[in-house]
Amino acid sequence: MKLESLCLHAGYSPENGQPRVVPISQSTTFKYASTAEVAKLFDLESAGFFYTRLANPTVDAVEQKIAALEGGVGALCTSSGQAASMLSLLNIAKSGDHIISTSNIYGGTFNLFAVTLKKLGIEVSFVDQTAADADIEALVRPNTRAFFGETLTNPSMDVLDIERFARLAHKHGMPLIVDNTFATPVLCRPFEYGADIVIHSTTKYMDGHALQVGGVIVDSGNFDWTGGRFPEFVEPDASYHGLVYTQAFGKAAYIIKARVQLMRDMGCCQSPQGAFYINQGLETLPLRMEKHCRNAERVAAWLAGHPAVESVNYPRLPGNPNKALADKYLPDGCSGVVSFSLKGGREAGARFIDALKLVSLQVHVADIRSCVLHPASSTHRQLTDAQLHEAGITPGMVRLSVGLENVDDIVADLEQALAQAGA
Ligand code: PLP
Repeated sequence: MKLESLCLHAGYSPENGQPRVVPISQSTTFKYASTAEVAKLFDLESAGFFYTRLANPTVDAVEQKIAALEGGVGALCTSSGQAASMLSLLNIAKSGDHIISTSNIYGGTFNLFAVTLKKLGIEVSFVDQTAADADIEALVRPNTRAFFGETLTNPSMDVLDIERFARLAHKHGMPLIVDNTFATPVLCRPFEYGADIVIHSTTKYMDGHALQVGGVIVDSGNFDWTGGRFPEFVEPDASYHGLVYTQAFGKAAYIIKARVQLMRDMGCCQSPQGAFYINQGLETLPLRMEKHCRNAERVAAWLAGHPAVESVNYPRLPGNPNKALADKYLPDGCSGVVSFSLKGGREAGARFIDALKLVSLQVHVADIRSCVLHPASSTHRQLTDAQLHEAGITPGMVRLSVGLENVDDIVADLEQALAQAGA
């Protein structure tokens, strides 16, 4: 099946007389006839649902659908995008290990990496994603476990050269983990360019309607965990009677380990109700992404021609430094997110946001309704000025998430707000 069909049909095929729509299995637990059957489930000798923290039929349907959309061997839904980022790394890194991440990532991910992982003893080095290969490789240490980056960076809207980062990671025996939240598998499938693991905040376009917070980790199944840097994959796991993940699960070793070890112990699972909402969003994802892209292209071009606007970050704009990468990795569009700076700086940006009527001020992005945010005073407010600069954010930058309204209405609102702001 092609992508549009997978969005509707992957993960759930009802039999005669069963519900057409994936049902919400609103149950924490599942009944079994004998202790022997339950023991087999606990020993991972047979597959089945037994407790919703580990797996649930509604969540499973969504996991299968997202795995199919990304072209992976399996997926694990999490309670948020943050939980997905965290588990994706904790699955391969422990205290004393090291990660290399691009610097212009989402502010919440930056905090997770720079503050919380550090407290857990995992050090993250940040690198400008346009740095030369040699400068990136110079950061690799014997204890480095992964490279991390975002397909389309939030909010600077730069495009990751996935093939280059995958090549560099693989050269040193490590996987590349890509946060594909803004692109979604509709616009880019990072596994096709060598990425090994993909994560998403499903809170964003996958849901698209601002209904639930969620995340997902998807495993390509392509990375060889037996290469030497990942003893946890080839040595016996005492918590499963000495099971060895690569031997027991082959290509699905990473994603099964994330579920049976980390989800079991950390418990940041998606709820059946939340998964149902994600599924609703996934069904129309291709239609919505196309319209988000076309609206954003119009808005970005209009902003670029406005005398009050200093700069516009949208990779599809002619002259944008990311244009060639966007043409390669995102040929159908670059999502609905456009960031821009006003000539009047921080104050003009604030006046402009306050004057908007249709476009609402929200700590959110990738919604069907247009919304706007000032990253320096919200999502990225913990960053120092130097870190802001590294993340590609100016103090006056406005992040606009172009929704599905008629684009003339969006432009008219921006126009009146710019005029009122005296920008
Ligand atoms: N990754 C990206 C690119 C994001 O934009 C966000 C949230 O804005 C996250 C991860 C974190 O996701 P969540 O808010 O679902 O925890």
